[in-house]
Amino acid sequence: MNFARRARHRVDRCPADSTRPCPRERGGTRRLRLRQQGDDSPVSDVTVGIDIGGTATRIVVVRGTQIVASTIVSTPTVRNDALPTLLSSIRAVMASAPGAEGEMSRVGIGASGPILAGGVIDNPESLPALSGWNFVDRLGELLGVDCRIDNDAVTAALAEVTVGAGRLDTGVLVMTLGTGVGVALMRSGIPFRGADGVHPEAGHITVDAPSSPCYCGRRHCLEQTASRTALQRLATHAGFPADLEVLAHAASEGDPGAQRVFLEYGTRIGEGLGELCTQHRPTIVVLGGSAATYLPHFRSGVEGALAALTSAPVPALRQTALGDLGGALGAALLWQ
Ligand SMILES: [Zn+2]
Repeated sequence: MNFARRARHRVDRCPADSTRPCPRERGGTRRLRLRQQGDDSPVSDVTVGIDIGGTATRIVVVRGTQIVASTIVSTPTVRNDALPTLLSSIRAVMASAPGAEGEMSRVGIGASGPILAGGVIDNPESLPALSGWNFVDRLGELLGVDCRIDNDAVTAALAEVTVGAGRLDTGVLVMTLGTGVGVALMRSGIPFRGADGVHPEAGHITVDAPSSPCYCGRRHCLEQTASRTALQRLATHAGFPADLEVLAHAASEGDPGAQRVFLEYGTRIGEGLGELCTQHRPTIVVLGGSAATYLPHFRSGVEGALAALTSAPVPALRQTALGDLGGALGAALLWQ
């Protein structure tokens, strides 16, 4: 089998993280167009896309132009259980996909990085069960299909520029706000890479904002100020529960304390985005991940911070059009 070569090839050519607490599995069928109307190119196979976040793993079955089934499960935390758990979840969601039995031909994975050349995850802090070994090759061998992996911000960005909020734009920066923070810059549909071919982890840039020490070693790290986890920390410090729906409801009802939490969160995101915009000058910023759901509450904070940007044009700010399945959908698009 040559899956290792395939995985390495993919990384050389070419991340939210998009999670929310996942106390139980959820499943169901969800339909979403992947192509433009009028695109009648023949598609006959089925691709599984997987978004492995620090807390939750989202799996979609994509047939032709549609997501035909999806599920959310907890991300494995024990190495010996990781592969059996993934296999079981893939088979379960495939069984729920109408008419997909026996048709799976590819499995694409987006995962919190870094993803090293060869397809090995190097993120023991967020994904201890899946880091440091090539489970991608093994998964492909066990399923008998082509299996590829990329950073989860990259897969989310692929979905946004293909069918989402960044469609048809040439300079799109995608930031996913989940357990951690993922960042991907797409230039004419191609993800920006480091000199070694690996996706840069821009969620760990230093920001000028109050922050907690990060596992990356920095004391003022974007991930510690802009992740969903950081928003939950701000909420609890202000006397609200960590359930962000409660915070959002309070803000909608005019609670000034809840509104201040969102304003501060948005400002911190905007300050980090300002650094990234200075470096990359995107025309559009798309926010995804589970915390992006609350963008209407913290948009003013983000835009207020971006308005102070003098070293680059202020980009348009958009919310993901793909809900919380963008990363998984993008993983299924790694062959495009
Ligand atoms: Zn960090």
